[in-house]
Order: sequence, then structure tokens, then C-alpha cells
Amino acid sequence: MLQKDAIIIGAGFAGLYMLHRLRGLGMDVQVFEAGDGVGGTWYWNRYPGARCDVPSLEYSYSFSEDLQREWAWSERYASQPEILRYLDHVADRFDLRRDIAFRTRVTSAAFDDGWTVETSQGERVTARYLIAAVGCLASAPRVPDLPMFHGATHHTGRWPHEGVDLAGKRVAVIGTGSSGIQAIPEIAQVAEHVTVFQRTANFSVPARNGPMDPAYEKWFKDNHGEIRAGMRATHSGLMTTPNPDSALSAGPEARLSAFEERWERGGIAFLGSFSDLLVSEEANTAAADFVRGKIRATVTESRVAEKLTPYDHPIGSKRICVDTGYYATFNRPNVRLADLRTAPLEEFTRYGVRTTAGEHPVDVIVFATGFDALTGPLLNIDIRGKGGLPLRDKWAAGPKTYLGLMSAGFPNLFTITGPGSPSVLSNMIVSIEQHVDWIAGCLAHLDGRTIDADPAAEDAWGAHVAEVAGYTLFPRADSWYMGANVPGKPRVFLPYVGGVGLYRARCEEVAATGYAGFTI
Ligand code: NAP
Repeated sequence: MLQKDAIIIGAGFAGLYMLHRLRGLGMDVQVFEAGDGVGGTWYWNRYPGARCDVPSLEYSYSFSEDLQREWAWSERYASQPEILRYLDHVADRFDLRRDIAFRTRVTSAAFDDGWTVETSQGERVTARYLIAAVGCLASAPRVPDLPMFHGATHHTGRWPHEGVDLAGKRVAVIGTGSSGIQAIPEIAQVAEHVTVFQRTANFSVPARNGPMDPAYEKWFKDNHGEIRAGMRATHSGLMTTPNPDSALSAGPEARLSAFEERWERGGIAFLGSFSDLLVSEEANTAAADFVRGKIRATVTESRVAEKLTPYDHPIGSKRICVDTGYYATFNRPNVRLADLRTAPLEEFTRYGVRTTAGEHPVDVIVFATGFDALTGPLLNIDIRGKGGLPLRDKWAAGPKTYLGLMSAGFPNLFTITGPGSPSVLSNMIVSIEQHVDWIAGCLAHLDGRTIDADPAAEDAWGAHVAEVAGYTLFPRADSWYMGANVPGKPRVFLPYVGGVGLYRARCEEVAATGYAGFTI
């Protein structure tokens, strides 16, 4: 049986950087990757319009000054193909591919002093340390099986690499989260007809994407060190500075102008218009009303505008969407909104989609129905800790982690951006680099010894994660942050909302005090 110092699961942003760091420690490492290339979420999510909603320069590695200097982003928000090219470049530049086994899914992992993993290729490999760089979403898409349907079906997170020719086709899109909202305007431009099946209306803000401004790029690169240090200390890991003022203390005119200014600027920074949008219902309503007004002003048919307008959750309590022409797409003659609240979905027939209002004949069905977020990518692997305890059993009532980095009873298993860490509420690259650096520091400190989280520290951290979420409006939404999108999944607020700056300080303090809360 092959023996390694460490095994990394996944070759996306997290796995690639983790491999690079562990090589720097002189470790012999094996990476397993289910895809036939690097990229993780950017390898799988190739649907039309797939694009990052964090500005390109901020959504890139900071660990290498040379990499940063030599790579040029073409747009303010990078498209999926460009991010994938970047990650391919990183893999080549740091000679990472030679330690990655592609087309190889880790199916199980069991602890007995060290870890033994089994793969879809029938291999068994052991290692002292196991690092799950499985991402938060992409490895666990929710794909229904429709044997009856005559045409093609595609999940946005499993889009065929050769693309899908939708020209002249009647297309159904199910789902209006970030993926659907990006894909729908693109699909509408080529398809003969698009029917958008919406269960819950979502808030979306314009991206205002455009070509990269060379002067801005130069400024960013010249001041890289200072800018990156600043980003690491913020709440979100982004560069934009939230307005520290309260929406409630601003007068109506000042409030409107702050919303308008951020709306014109574009992107998720809209939620930083004021400091209290995600903690005060009244402040949140002001922001939500502003966006509702924009939807009404954009969509010409008032009945359609009303259906597209969200009322059932505070703005930002579900991941805010960022779009290019989403609402205006509903003014096109070839686009129709099917509201599943008034006419629920009954079944997929041979020729289309039937709701209680009748059948919609279509040629292609696009599922933009999301993912079993945060826990799904880990629990899809049969992971067994001390005494053979399955992680699925330990997490039956929701994930239990210490700092989102480890789970007690699963020694030497690290989870990059795991549940209980800022992860999906932050700029993922900032959070990934922070976890990778922390884990590399920890492994250097361990020097081959075993580490496990203390159950008491884990319970205290879980209580803290829940308590902080309770101060916010996040738990008010039926979101994937709460596990609410997967039937039967426990309702637990999964990421840590305390912010990357505070979280980083906490992790650094734990390391500096001899890994308090862990047993070595
Ligand atoms: P999502 O946010 O979970 O949205 C899924 C959509 O499908 C929702 O509208 C949901 O409706 C609907 N849906 C699910 N099951 C359904 C069913 N059985 N019948 C009808 N409708 C159903 O998934 P996503 O859009 O793939 O986005 C997931 C996350 O990935 C995002 O929040 C974001 O963090 C990330 N992402 C980022 C970007 C970007 O960087 N720009 C792009 C795409 C994705 P309900 O709301 O009623 O459940």
C-alpha cells in the first residue's frame, strides 16, 4: 500500500495551495481530484455566464509576489474560463500536477493511528495527515434523475465541457439563485424560448462588469502587500470598505444616496452601504425596498415585476446575487416566468415540465438548483474517525467543528474552509489562504505527532458560531447557509459570521498559545 506524509482531497484553489505549502515543509504529498483537471468549482461550473462575484484582483492568490505580478486579469470580474486558465497556470508554474491523481474520487477515509483512504480507482493509500480541500459546494450538486424526459438535462454545476448548443431550443431553467441568475440572461440570447421556473424570488444587484482598468491594476499590484494585509483584517476579506454608519441614523436622503451610489458601483459591496443592514430589520427593509424599487423600474410588465420581487427574506440573508441584465431579461419576448409559488411543480413529463397550471413543453432542462452546501462535500465521503465513528453519525444533528478546522474524534483530519469558519461568507481565497497557512504552521509544529480537537473546545466554538449568527438576520431565511435547501438536513447556521479579521486573530492566538483547545 502506498504511504505518504499527507493526502489532500481536491485540486481547487485550496488543494493547490495546500500542496505547494506542504512541499515547502518537505512532505511527500498525494492529491486526489475527481475531475480530469485542476480548478475545483471553476472546473465544474461551466454554465453560460459563470463568473465570479468577487473582483478578479481580490479573487486571486496573494502568496506569491511573482505570480501576482505576471498574471493579468482581463475584466473586473473574471469569467469561469479565465479563472480556470489562471489555476492551470498556477498548477504549471509551481509544478503541482506531478503529485495530483486526476479522475480519482476519494470514496472513504478511515483513521487508525494514520489515515487510510480508498479511491474510485481502487487504490488504498495511507498518510499521517488528511486534508479535505473539497470546497463548500461544487462537489455536491443536487441533480435529479429524470428518465422520462425526452430531451437533455444539465445541472449548472456539472455543465458539459464541450458546451451545450441551445440555439433554437426551448429551454426550462429551474432555480433562481446565483447560478440561475447568471445563466438566464445568457441562455435567453441564444435559445428560441426560455421558461424560468422560480420558487423563491431573489435579490440581485448589478455587477457592472467591464474591462480591467490598467491604471487600477498597476496600483493594485504596486501596493499589493498593503492591500492584501488590509483585506485580511476586514470582516469579508474584500477590499471595499463598508460604510461604518447606521442606515437608521442616516436621514432618508442620505440613505437613498448611499444605496444609489453602491448600486451604481455594482457588486456585493451593496450590502456594505451601511453597517447595520444584516443586524437591524428596519435598516434591512430600507435596503430591500430600494432594490425592490429597482426591480419595478426595470421590468416593464408589472405582474412579472411583482413576481420577481422578493418579500420573504431579508436582503443578504440568502447569498445576494450579482447579475448582468437579469431583471431586464424578463422584458424579452422569448422569456417567460413560471411562478412555482402560485402554480407548484407537479412533475417532469416526457415532453416538459408540468405545474398545476399546465404543461410547459421544452427541449432542454437546466437545473440551477444548488448544492448540499458545506457538509455535503465532506459527508459524500465515508469518513470514519477514532473507533470507526462515521462523520455522518457525528454530524447527524449538524456539523461539529473546532474553528471549522477539525472535528473531535477525527485526529489529523483538517478541513479547509469547513463549517464553522467564515468560508462562504467571505472572499473564499482569503479564507483558503488563511486556513492553508494555519494548517501548514500546525503541521510544522506537530512534526509527525497527532492532533485532535478537544470536545469541550468544539462545543464552545459551536455555541459561539450559533450565538453570533443569532445576532444577525441570517437565520431568518430558508437558505443553504442554514441547510434549508436540502430536505431533511438539520437546520443549523453553517458558516461563521464573526468575520475573517476576528476569526484570523482567534486562530493565530490558538496557535501562539500552543494550540489551545487541541490535544497533541
Ligand atoms: P442556490 O443559491 O441554492 O439556488 C438554487 C435555486 O434553485 C433556488 O432558487 C431554489 O429555490 C431553486 N430550487 C432548488 N430546488 C428546487 C426545486 N426542487 N424546485 C424548484 N426550485 C428549486 O444555488 P446556486 O444558484 O447554484 O448558488 C449556490 C451558491 O454558489 C451561491 O449562493 C454562491 O455562493 C455560489 N455561486 C457563486 C457565483 C458567483 O460567484 N457569481 C455563481 C454561482 C454560484 P429556493 O430558493 O426556493 O430554495
